[in-house]
Amino acid sequence: MRASAEQVLGLDERGLVAVPGCGDAVRRLHPLVLKDFIAFRERCAQHGVNLAIASSFRGFDQQLAIWNQKMRGERPIYDDNAEIIDIRHLSDADKLPYILRWTALPGCSRHHWGSDIDVYDLSAMAEGYRLQLVPAEYAADGPFERLGRLLNSWFDEKEGYGGFYRPFSVDSGGVAFEPWHISHIVTADAHSQALSPGMVKSYLAKTDIAGRAAILENFEEIWRRFVV
Ligand SMILES: [Zn+2]
Repeated sequence: MRASAEQVLGLDERGLVAVPGCGDAVRRLHPLVLKDFIAFRERCAQHGVNLAIASSFRGFDQQLAIWNQKMRGERPIYDDNAEIIDIRHLSDADKLPYILRWTALPGCSRHHWGSDIDVYDLSAMAEGYRLQLVPAEYAADGPFERLGRLLNSWFDEKEGYGGFYRPFSVDSGGVAFEPWHISHIVTADAHSQALSPGMVKSYLAKTDIAGRAAILENFEEIWRRFVV
């Protein structure tokens, strides 16, 4: 398969398919991913985990809205201990590393590809619990400890399992460790091969992204450190 520039940047939603069994939520994936995801979910069920999707396909505009809210201080930004950090007093350039640790630059999100999925265990969610997607939730004594252990046992030793792998499995100072983020290998590879810094930079220059000047000025460093 080949991915077009529009597909890579999250600008083409044609061809996505809805995942069955997500209740009222509409969760969409690339069609190549669906069968493997359903099989993966069944394997989780065999271990007592009701695998649910927090996020699957996310288009450019959706990522841009999240990004802009974070840059403008309208949406919380967490540190590694799940504490909210106040970045409002920082310059745009100084805000970037805090935001990029957990939030992809629009155009660079693996969620644009329909290949990547954030998962949690619906059966372990207490009534009224608000999902945060922080590592502590998947660690010992976290609500999703069982799922966390299961994913570690499948992914720690092997590169891939059931067609998926975890791209953010080690924290080397860029994007944080995201135990909940799984990626469909074949589909993600096709998109990542088509992704280039020039493509993203020239598209961002045309948008109303918050912090645009700082992003374009620091683009090469952002790319090196935070784009996978
Ligand atoms: Zn994710």
